[in-house]
Formats: sequence, C-alpha cells, structure tokens
Amino acid sequence: MKRISIILIVVFAVSVTFGQIRYFPSPQTILSSGFGEYRPSSSGLLPHFHMGVDFPTFSREGVEIRSVDSGYLYKIEIDNDSIYGYTVYIKHENYISLYAHLSGFATKARRIVESLMKEFPNRRVEVMFHDNEIFVQAGEVIGYSGRTGEALAPHCHLELRDLENKVAINPIPVLSISRPYDLKIHIESVRVDGETYPATNGLVVPIKTAIPKIDVLTYITFDKTFINPHVVSLEVNGREVYKVEFDSIKLSEFAQAPKVYGRDSTMRKYWFRMYSDVPLSVVKINEWNNIPELPARSRVTIRVRSDWDDEESFTFELVRR
Ligand SMILES: [Zn+2]
Repeated sequence: MKRISIILIVVFAVSVTFGQIRYFPSPQTILSSGFGEYRPSSSGLLPHFHMGVDFPTFSREGVEIRSVDSGYLYKIEIDNDSIYGYTVYIKHENYISLYAHLSGFATKARRIVESLMKEFPNRRVEVMFHDNEIFVQAGEVIGYSGRTGEALAPHCHLELRDLENKVAINPIPVLSISRPYDLKIHIESVRVDGETYPATNGLVVPIKTAIPKIDVLTYITFDKTFINPHVVSLEVNGREVYKVEFDSIKLSEFAQAPKVYGRDSTMRKYWFRMYSDVPLSVVKINEWNNIPELPARSRVTIRVRSDWDDEESFTFELVRR
C-alpha cells in the first residue's frame, strides 16, 4: 500500500513539472521590439541597430527566462556597465542564443558565477565554458528577467548569432515567433531632397536634381507597440533600385544604423534612407546611384513588408521642373 502511494506521488510530480514547462521567450509571446530597429544615442552610446528582439516581462524583475532550444552553456557575462548587463549565451546546433538584462542566473553554473562575483565585486566578469560541458534543455530556466545594462524597464533581450559569434540573425523566422493579430503597416511620409510630403494618393513631387535622394517614414504597430519593417524597397519606373532587408547584421556594423536610418528617426518611427554610400549586410540592392538621369515623369513605388509577409505600398510621381 505504502509503495503504491509513493509511485503515484512521483508520477503526479512529474506530470506537474511537464505541465509547467513554458518556453520564455516563446513563440507565443508577443514582441515589444523588432530586429534591426533604430536606437538613437543614449548615455554614451552612439546610434545603433537593435541586434535582437525584446520580450516584455510585464515590467517585472525575476520572471523566469528559458532557453529557446537545447544546447550547451557557452558564456556568461556579468557587467552592469555594458549594454547587455547580465547575459547568458547558449550554443545550439546551428546558432548561439543570448539573453540579456537579466537580474540573476539560474544555470548549473550559478555557483561558479556567484563565487566569481564575490571574488571580484564590481568588476566585469566573463566566464567561457568548454564545448559540450554544461547541457541546457529546451525550455530550461537559465536566468531571471531584470534591467541590468541599458534597459529602461525589465524585459528580456533575445539575440541569435551565428556559431562564430560574428553575425546577429533575425530570431523571428528562425523561432517562428507569432504574428501579432492586429498588426498594421504605416507609410506616413516621404522626403525628397530634404522636402517632406505626406504619403497620400496622387502625390506629385517636383524635382530639380538628376537623381533625387528619397527617404520614407514607415513603421509597424500592434497594440501599443511600434516595430520596424522587415523589408523596405524602392522601385522606379518598374525597376527595383534599392532594398533594405533585416535578415542578419554583422556585429561589426552595430554603429552603422545612421547609414540606413535618416535624420529625425526615433525608437518608434523610422525614416529609411533609400540610398547608401556604404555596403552593409542589410542593404540588398543599391542601384540608385547607377541609373541614368530620370525621364521628365517617373513613377516611384515604396514597398514595406513585415516579418510575417504583410505588405503595403505607396506610389507617387516625380516630375522634372
Ligand atoms: Zn533589446
């Protein structure tokens, strides 16, 4: 009799544990920031790209943060003065995942980390782990949400990188992060040679230069959140001449955001420059400077796509004066 009750308790405990497994960040969690967003300069940082995605933690510290996949512990960083604050890196089969702004660690290496923190108080500590040393299961708690580093409110910054730790990868398609149901693409204004026009039907813009510089003000909203588009492209007289696509960004290009985002860009609304003088991972087509002088009238179409393939476009005319 006693033996049976013990078995039942064990089975019950196991099923409860499984029922509680909840991946976080998870594909079901709605984002609060997108990949490649513009970040204006703040407390000593230059303007830069947002190299991952953010998940809100209900503005709370201490929410369990779980590994998005199985893998091995790769690195832990304890540095409150860096952008990322307390960070855990996990190496998976095809990529590395990184969880930043944590308030604390919950890994199997927690004791090592705590003893190092005691030994080197107020110092930057970075712990690298040997390959295949400390296994982490998909969904295992690896830390707790916080606001260490550059975080205004507690949240989890999730970043994916290639196995060489040199390129940031857009996590939305890789992890099949859910599409927010009330998503809307906004194309608000265009700027031609520095002059701003509302993006309304029938817009005709007079030009004086051979090849005008075009910027477009666009962003995506859902609920009270603003994120950046996945693709913004420019088509002139049926030819695609410029395209920005946020699938991956080299870590060395972190501070090149002002080459993609024009003047007056903010954290929520983005002025995309439809021309670039430098090659960048996100600039896929850059023909704008190679086309012959425009004819007297030209048809210009701007296409904007979300990470979930929603698309909006805006067409206007350029007329030579
Ligand atoms: Zn972030």
